[in-house]
Amino acid sequence: MTLVDSHTHIDMPQFDVDRDAVVARAREAGVQTMLLVGGVDEEQGHRRALTVADALGFPASAGVHPHEARLAEERVYDELGGLARDQRIVAIGEIGLDFHYDHSPRDIQREAFRRQIRLARDVGLPVIVHTREADDETAKILEEEGAREVGGVIHCFTGAADLARRSLDLGFFISFSGIVAFPRAEVIQEVARNMPLDRLLVETDAPFLAPPPHRGKRNEPAFVVEVARKVAALRGVSAAEVGEAALGNFHRLFGHGGQPDRARGPA
Ligand SMILES: [Zn+2]
Ligand SMILES: [Zn+2]
Repeated sequence: MTLVDSHTHIDMPQFDVDRDAVVARAREAGVQTMLLVGGVDEEQGHRRALTVADALGFPASAGVHPHEARLAEERVYDELGGLARDQRIVAIGEIGLDFHYDHSPRDIQREAFRRQIRLARDVGLPVIVHTREADDETAKILEEEGAREVGGVIHCFTGAADLARRSLDLGFFISFSGIVAFPRAEVIQEVARNMPLDRLLVETDAPFLAPPPHRGKRNEPAFVVEVARKVAALRGVSAAEVGEAALGNFHRLFGHGGQPDRARGPA
């Protein structure tokens, strides 16, 4: 089986003791590549994910997470602006709105989200969107800010059918995490069952959200196979088919930035 983990955080300290073994297990499970999604680290700023990804031969992204939006000073955005022009960075994110945790005031989340979509358009990179209990506003901001121009992915999809439809209308991809296999995930499962396969991605969001049967443990990229299995079961196809489609979609989205068949804009 060939697979991809389209969203992981194995740069985090939780993996410092056994990162090489984690990557080896992922490869053994069929994971061909993975995207290390950056956050802002106290010491290393935006660079931690890039540094680790570079050493392992994987792509990375950079962005200010909605949780961190309240802490981001101008110099954080200055650094991001510089990094966004680095050829090794394939996307801006994760960015978005999280009205479940509300770790940052909502106005600050909205402003951080909007300005980073503008940055993505400036540099011609797709966006990785994190959204929780903010379906309508997320879609509205993506529409208003012209995110269609660069494309992107709604990661760890936990929304309803309307967000899925509006995202697909913008040319976005939708990525499922282990949450799709959780009990009471019927609404998410319905989206996974019915959406077009050529826009579907799978991810772990490791170390968070381990899928069954690993729930409660530290998540890791090898477990993305469980996500592919669940999505495949919902759609009545083989996990290999889902894995192969997701890998192709991953390369289409992040391989040359932005929309399928759209060459990367000026760097
Ligand atoms: Zn997220
Ligand atoms: Zn994440």
